[in-house]
Amino acid sequence: MAQKNQAAASKARRSKNKPREAPVVTGPNMDSLGFQAMDSNVPGLSQVILQKLNMKSYDEYRSAMEGKQLCPDFGIRSYFEMFQKMEDTFKFCTECKKLPESLPDPKSLRRCKRCQNVYYCGSGCQRVNWPMHKKFCRKLKLVAIDRLVEWLVFTGDIPFPTGSWTKRIQDVKGWDDWFSMQEQLDEKLSSILAGRYMSILWANAGKPKPDEPELIESVKRVTTDFVSRPATIGLGICAFQLDPFAKPITVHVVGASHVETLNARATDYDELSRMFPKHQGIEVVMVGVDVVDGAIMRPPLVAFGPRERVYLSSYKGLYHDFWESLVEMQQAARPDIVVGFHPGFHACHNLMESWLPTLLLLRDYKIPSLFTMYSEQELKNSLKILVELETLIVGCGANPFASLKPEQAYSNPNRPPVYCSSHYVMFHGLSDPASFLHAQ
Ligand SMILES: [Zn+2]
Ligand SMILES: [Zn+2]
Repeated sequence: MAQKNQAAASKARRSKNKPREAPVVTGPNMDSLGFQAMDSNVPGLSQVILQKLNMKSYDEYRSAMEGKQLCPDFGIRSYFEMFQKMEDTFKFCTECKKLPESLPDPKSLRRCKRCQNVYYCGSGCQRVNWPMHKKFCRKLKLVAIDRLVEWLVFTGDIPFPTGSWTKRIQDVKGWDDWFSMQEQLDEKLSSILAGRYMSILWANAGKPKPDEPELIESVKRVTTDFVSRPATIGLGICAFQLDPFAKPITVHVVGASHVETLNARATDYDELSRMFPKHQGIEVVMVGVDVVDGAIMRPPLVAFGPRERVYLSSYKGLYHDFWESLVEMQQAARPDIVVGFHPGFHACHNLMESWLPTLLLLRDYKIPSLFTMYSEQELKNSLKILVELETLIVGCGANPFASLKPEQAYSNPNRPPVYCSSHYVMFHGLSDPASFLHAQ
């Protein structure tokens, strides 16, 4: 075992200069139109939209959102303009992929009236595309509503205040159970619907306001998207039989993305406190090359964190570097569990190479690990790699706390939408340490 550990550590050292763990704009994440297909595992806007908004920093964007100032410097003078710019990223012909700029009359781009989501350069393309589009039109309608309603995460309307879990996590089988634990749910949802920002949203969205039941369902889906991450961590804590009531828990989130950390608020993982009331303290350390300055940019704790509270901290860099420079030097607590949301290491060779040192480290130090995927197919591909690496798979399947908010493939909307963290895999050390010892 010790030799294997050394091997992993030296491998980790050798690959220090390897590419980053989760490249933001390279490889399979970019589609043919240059849209980043899957960065939206983040509450809020994708990076593409942020770029479209021409924002230098997310903080400026947020202060604009909060209506404090509608930064004229950034070309946004009104909420209407802001929503238009967000929508611009979706404006291209779904059939022939033409962008408005390449049409004789950019205004001739028309939108599907049913879903209010996809565009066509003309009725010809729309007709040709319909047999394909009709399979997804209903789902895409939800996508279009959700991406507007998601704005309410930034205004603070979502999530609504939630109380301590009244059931043990083992007895919470999914979102129905989670919602059933929320007291006065109807009142809370109604107050979001009647809120100031909901009115601003539909007065400026340039789309018809959906009816109340549709909006309520959307608010619920966006809420699950927000709570999905802490709930999934809770699932892992429970599955690995860690006991937050007996001792403090340290969670490392690997491959944390740019927007995810910019957007992070101190309260983002508080659901863990509601899940495990009176716990001994839970620290969540976001580790990734794309970690950026934000509210949680503070060093990890060396000693135990405050009881009954979730403490967020972060480290900018690769996980195995973090491990060598902080964990091994006892500058940061060893993790009780490591979680990766959509690491995507199965997706291409380069990505796998940059993830390999981390995966070997997790295996050889026998760290309880949980990774999530966007789909069953991704789960299968990831499993294959983890089995090849001889990790011991201790669980996998559909995540009861998958986000319910559908995500479309931007450049090709006529594909089944995916859901953040829809599947998970858990592994713990080597699959068969005995056979490894024999091989020595
Ligand atoms: Zn067309
Ligand atoms: Zn449609």
